This record gives sequence, structure tokens and C-alpha cells, in this order.
Amino acid sequence: MPEINILSPHVADLIAAGEVVERPASVIKELIENSFDAGAKNITIELKNGGMTYIRVTDDGCGMLPEDAGVCFLRHATSKLKNERSLEAIGTMGFRGEALAAISSVSRIEMITRRKGSVEGTRVLVEAGEIAEMSPCGCPVGTTIIVRDLFHNTPARLKFMKSDRAEGSACTAFALRCALGRPEVSVRLIRDGKEEFFSPGDGKISSCAYSLLGREQALDLLEMSAQGEDVSVAGYVGSPKAGHGNRAKQFFFVNGRCIKSALLQAAVEQAYRNTLLTGRYPAAVCYLTLSPASVDVNVHPAKTEVKFRDERRIFDAVYYAALSALTGEKPSAEIKLSHTTAKALSASKKDFFKSTSSCESPGKSPSTEKSAGFSSAHTIIAEKPKIGSSPTAEHISKPQEACQLRLCDSVRPSYSPPARSEKETDKSPRIEPGSEVASVTPADFRLVGETMKTYILVEQGDNLILIDKHAAHERMIFDRLKSQGHEIMSQTLLSPVTTKLSTADIEIIERNGKLLSRLGFEIDPYGDDSVILRGVPADTDVSDAPAMIEEICDKLGRGSRVSEADSVDEILHTVACKAAIKAGWSTAQAELMKIAEAVIRGEVKYCPHGRPVSVTLTKKHLDKEFSRIV
Ligand code: ADP
Ligand code: MG
Repeated sequence: MPEINILSPHVADLIAAGEVVERPASVIKELIENSFDAGAKNITIELKNGGMTYIRVTDDGCGMLPEDAGVCFLRHATSKLKNERSLEAIGTMGFRGEALAAISSVSRIEMITRRKGSVEGTRVLVEAGEIAEMSPCGCPVGTTIIVRDLFHNTPARLKFMKSDRAEGSACTAFALRCALGRPEVSVRLIRDGKEEFFSPGDGKISSCAYSLLGREQALDLLEMSAQGEDVSVAGYVGSPKAGHGNRAKQFFFVNGRCIKSALLQAAVEQAYRNTLLTGRYPAAVCYLTLSPASVDVNVHPAKTEVKFRDERRIFDAVYYAALSALTGEKPSAEIKLSHTTAKALSASKKDFFKSTSSCESPGKSPSTEKSAGFSSAHTIIAEKPKIGSSPTAEHISKPQEACQLRLCDSVRPSYSPPARSEKETDKSPRIEPGSEVASVTPADFRLVGETMKTYILVEQGDNLILIDKHAAHERMIFDRLKSQGHEIMSQTLLSPVTTKLSTADIEIIERNGKLLSRLGFEIDPYGDDSVILRGVPADTDVSDAPAMIEEICDKLGRGSRVSEADSVDEILHTVACKAAIKAGWSTAQAELMKIAEAVIRGEVKYCPHGRPVSVTLTKKHLDKEFSRIV
């Protein structure tokens, strides 16, 4: 017969420890979060042997009174939650009173703490969850906690630890995420005697990101900032040029807490639709500020996941913040999308939102009807970049400008005119606030010609711009097709063309008949193994039609399309690619000019597959190559 035993508090603590303290990195996270909650301005973390033998976290926060220092290691001892009601709006990182109990049950702890205003501090030694020694001591205000020999009394868990190097790297990564979430706190990490990172704690997101992510990544970041009804978004997104192979460079913070969120990932990635290569992920450092009551952090033991009360509003805020950063409309005070764009975006966003949130929370389909309300929300305020004037911020702001220059060099001369006279600068195109596509006239440029029957050469100021004519033209056609609201003109063929297809492909055509006809294809089955093409999208050549149909079948048949919007995009990619002028063919001067103008105006930046359409060589660069300057 099974017998029910009540677990001893020690065993219960060990089990709870397993949830909170998985590895040294989780200890570091919990200790840093306690320091944040204590109002620390400076935190130093030191670790040895991957954190397995030694972790020390020192802060200059409020510290503890001797009586609190005695009880803080007890389970459910917390100063942060008074009653059930305060669970509804949690403003601190911790609230369950579990971390110190859990950590102390699987390690040897030494704590030195002094409360502000107390004449002396307290030193406590804790062994396997029990206080072994407690005495007054002299120390500065704040708290130092040293965790030694983690998991020394739980050999089973010890076995699961990876190498010291791997655990140490995880510690660095966890601490870095914590530090990135709090630009107002200076965090230093020392690993085996070597400083791994240091954030200045000046409250500026720019200096925080720069010091923690490094110059290289900071250079590729575009500032984003938006204010929604009850949510504000700040941070950076990566330039589409610098896509990454995974999502390791994406950081999301909600009220300073680093979280994982499929919803926020989707919102950011949606903004890159058609500008980032498939399989590449953007970098993002995204700070959301919202009232503690509109987010539930009590849904995960390690508090790394949250539940938003209004997912759609949050999605919209992040999506538009990222989009405005990418379209480079930061300097304008207000971004207004035209009705058609808003409608098109709304449609594709709706699909995306549906597919992502349904996989996130099965059984609960969010109301997509509400997205109709999006039209009222399609004005968002994009704040001016707040780049501070302290010396640190100043040198931090440079990479930000440089990164704008890099984007602008090839595509938006308006924001970074090379040294010109005032008169000339006045002529340079400007993006009007409130205009969706820049109503600009091309700045002075000269079409030099074409080379290798592939690249258009354009001279503008001190820049030589090379444009991939096929990629740029493909994008122009793609955008035009998209703006036709997916009702694309068909051109009826004088003599219909029959083409042989596999049974599977014929099925695909039948299944997608409606979609294809909306996109300008008139196709009917013809016998068992062929189709007859009566019409193709205007602009495409009939000789391309059979290849186009095969390619479309291939794409639609892969079954990886999550939504109709994705299928439409894939088909439009194919149509645009086929209708565009090809590399290797000679192209008329007038046509080259049209493409060059569109690129210089900044209307075309990436081909529909996310490849850049232009490359800029500066005079300085060429002068260097020729050793005219060093
Ligand atoms: P929680 O953070 O969920 O309250 P913990 O076990 O992490 O639970 O901490 C227990 C309590 O110990 C906290 O509520 C706080 O009062 C106190 N404490 C822990 N770390 C610090 C610190 N670095 N500075 C001041 N007080 C601290
Ligand atoms: Mg805590």
C-alpha cells in the first residue's frame, strides 16, 4: 500500500530549489534581481569556475536589518508581497520569497549586509539552509552575498552541470541580460579574475546597449521608440543587412524584466517582412513599459514568461515601433500610414498575429475582429531619438549616426548629404511627416552607365552607387503588385499556352484557383496531365509563364506557408522576379534611369528576398584604395 509522507521542510526546499536554481546562471539572475529590488545603483558580480565554486554579488542597495538578515533564507520570506491583492500588480523582480531559501539549501552562503542608517552590519553563514553563524560586523551600506560550492549536497544535480566554461558563459549571458534591462544601474561582471562587461548605469539605453553588446553590434542598430495608449516602447532593432542565424540577439524587457515572448518576437520579425532573408533573424533590444497591472509575471517559476492582458495592443506597439525604425522615419514627429498601406499591413499582420498567438496559447484564439480597430490605432507617435549629452552618451551616439549613414548612403541621401553648400542642401529631398512614401525629388545624381549588364552606376556627390538592376526592379514590381491590393490585372493571351504538370501540381493549382485568379492567372485543367494558361499577370512575358507556374506550384506545395498572406507574397515574388529586367540583358537607358531614381529616392532598399539592391563606394574609400590618403 502506498503510504503518504509529509516531506520534511529540507526535502521540500531541495525540490523547490530545483525549480528556481537550475544552474549557476540562475543563482546569478536571482541575486542580481534582489539587488535591483533593493534599489542598488552599482552591482558587482564575481564568479569562479563557471560559478560552481564561487559566486559573489555585491550591491549598494538598501541592505537588511539584523532581524531580516536572519529570516531572509526562510522559504516564503519576502518583503515584497504583503497579501494576495498585491499579486495583481507586481512591481518588483522577486515576490515569492523562494530564491534565497532555494539557493541556501544547495550551497554554502556567506552574507554581509548593512541597512542604511544602521551603525553596524550583520554577517551570516548559512549551511544547507540552516544558519550556522550570525554576528555583527563592520561593512558598507548594501549587501554582499557569496555562494560557495553550489549543489555540493545534491550529487544528482551536480552530474547535470556542463563544463565550467559552458556554465560560466551561461552566467555571463544571464547577467548581461539582467544588466541590459536596467540602463540606470551600473553592472560589472568579473569572471575568473577578468572583467567580462561593465555598464555605466547612466540611465541611457544607448550607452547601456553599446557597452554590453559591443561596438560591432551597436553599429547595426536603429533606434526605435513609440508611445501607445498605455504602453511605451523603446530600444533598438538591427539593420536588415545584419540578419542573424538565430534569435540570440533578441532581448525583450517588460518593466525591466527580461522575458521570452513569441508574441514580441513575431511583432518585431513581422516588421522585417520582405526585407530580411528567409531564415535570418533581426537583432532587437526592446523595452516595454506598461502598468504592472496589465501584465502577469506570475506564470512561470523563473518568471521568464509573462502574460499580457491585451496582447494585440502590445503587438501593435512593438510592430509599429520596429517598422518606423526600419523605414527611417525616426526624425518625424508623427507617422501616419495612408489608408491603403494601413489596410494592407493590417491584413498581413492579422494573419501573422493569428498564426503566432494560436501556437502560443492553444485553445484560445484571440479576437482578430478587433484588428478592425487598428485603423484608429494606425497613428503612432515616434519620439525623437533621445540621445543625451553626457560624454559617454556622446561617444555612444556616434555609432548610431554612423549606422544611419550606412543605410542612407545608398538609399536616402536626404539624411546624410555629403558636405554641400546650404543652397544645395535645401534642394535635398526631405521626408515629410505624415507622408507614407517620401514625397521627394531625387537629389542631383548622374547616371554613369551600366556595367556587366548587371549593375547600374550612379554618381551622387562623393559617392559611387552600384545598383543591382534586377533586384531593384524586382522590388519595384513587387511593391506595385502589392499596392494593387492583391487584385492584379491579368493580360489575356491571344493564343493560350498548354503546359504539362504533375498530378500533384495540378491539384495545387486547383486548390489555389481563387488566389491565382486574383493574382492575374487564368488557368484551367487540360486533360489529366496539363493545364491551359489563358491569362498571365500583366507585365510578365508569356514565354516565362510555364516556368512561373512550376515555381509557384513548388512554393505552394512545400506546405510551409503559415498564412494566405505568405502564399500571396511568394507568388508575387515569382511574378516580380519574372517580370523584372534580367541581369545579362541589355537595358534601355530610360529604364535604367527609372530604377536609379527609385533607389536614390529611397523607395527601394531590399529585393523581396531581403538582399540589398545597392552598394555605395565613397570617395574616401576609393582614395584609400589608391593610397591617395592613408
Ligand atoms: P523575493 O526576492 O522573492 O522576495 P528572495 O528569497 O530572493 O525572495 O529574497 C528574500 C528577501 O530578502 C527579499 O524580499 C528582501 O527583503 C531580502 N533581500 C534579498 N536580497 C537582498 C539584497 N540584495 N538587498 C536587500 N534585501 C535583500
Ligand atoms: Mg528574489
